[in-house]
Amino acid sequence: MSIQTQAELNAAQACIYTRTNIARAYEGFDDTEISGIYLRGDNCIVVRRDGNEQAYNREVIKVAYSSYTHRLKDFFSYLGPNYRGPSVWHNNAYILFKGWNYTHALGHLTSNAKLQAHWADKFIHVSEQQKLIHLLQSDQTDLGHLVAPDGVRHPNRPIDLDSDMEGEQAPVVGEPWCSCGSYQRQLSNVSDFASEITGFKPWCIHLSWFNKYRELLCKRTEARNASPSGTPEKCVAWWYAPPADHISDGRFVLLYTNSGAQSPLSHWRTYKPKEVFTQHDAWDLFFNMMEAGYVPFPGTALPQLKSAIKKQCN
Ligand SMILES: [Zn+2]
Repeated sequence: MSIQTQAELNAAQACIYTRTNIARAYEGFDDTEISGIYLRGDNCIVVRRDGNEQAYNREVIKVAYSSYTHRLKDFFSYLGPNYRGPSVWHNNAYILFKGWNYTHALGHLTSNAKLQAHWADKFIHVSEQQKLIHLLQSDQTDLGHLVAPDGVRHPNRPIDLDSDMEGEQAPVVGEPWCSCGSYQRQLSNVSDFASEITGFKPWCIHLSWFNKYRELLCKRTEARNASPSGTPEKCVAWWYAPPADHISDGRFVLLYTNSGAQSPLSHWRTYKPKEVFTQHDAWDLFFNMMEAGYVPFPGTALPQLKSAIKKQCN
């Protein structure tokens, strides 16, 4: 079944008024038997194969679209090999790895995860932006994206006001930027989006995640610096076991101590041992623990805790 493309929708509207976004906006929306979607005044009209029509409020769908493109994905969604965060590249941009290692217990065996491990330290040597983006995201690879949360900087490219940057969408100086398809589609049609959504700025899930990760690093540095000796006593170690199937969630386990990261296992306690935490709890738990003065460490860096965690992560 294919939906007829309605000439009435421009590129931006075609991204916003989709059956998935209508379903996000209106619970219980029946997304089958649709022959067309178009706009009439304040409404988005869905035409069914039998000729019936239903009207949905455009504003409600716009809100659903915006909150979907701004949503925060879980902590493990964009970590590379060995819980590696975004890696510095050139031009004020970073490599954001897709979390292939954490989607599944065998995720590290996927070809994308293996390519990530192979390339992680070598991306810095690829200095041409288009070449790098092609390595990250192409028909053959899906390793991650190039993200510039503070805008791309091209130190070697003189600003030429007469140039129309043929064939390339010029990033706006100082504006957050991402190489992903969603962001690029918005950037290419930015004026259509802006006339549809007041105050519109291109955005994507990668920028949301990056900002949250950066906030976590800042908070962690603050928590660390708060200890007078420079070596924090209050520490929390975390582990993550990805799910063994594609339906379940993974297990997220925390141990904490008031005696420093190097203290023996007997000085550590499981955080809320009766509760089961998953990847969806990770952001909140990190921020709550740091709020209470605890500095997080990946448990894999603390070998003295290894035996205790084996049981809990299964
Ligand atoms: Zn993106």
